[in-house]
Amino acid sequence: MKCRELADFLMDYVSGELSDDSLAHFELHLQRCRNCHEYLLQYESTIKAGRIACGEASDELPDDIPDDLVKAVMAARKLT
Ligand SMILES: [Zn+2]
Repeated sequence: MKCRELADFLMDYVSGELSDDSLAHFELHLQRCRNCHEYLLQYESTIKAGRIACGEASDELPDDIPDDLVKAVMAARKLT
């Protein structure tokens, strides 16, 4: 799996919809690739921020999330 492919799987991974096979590849890549590992952490923070923005969580909003990531998550939420 390449980094770009991992990004494609990210949404399904976070929502728990990856197949066992894809999940194995995904997690293997995460263990080997520090960039993607950090990207995932940032992505999860962004989703959390999105929930907070929608009133689904009461945590403090992290202030280190890039605007484009927030926008991407908010755009994705509109599709679901
Ligand atoms: Zn990677």
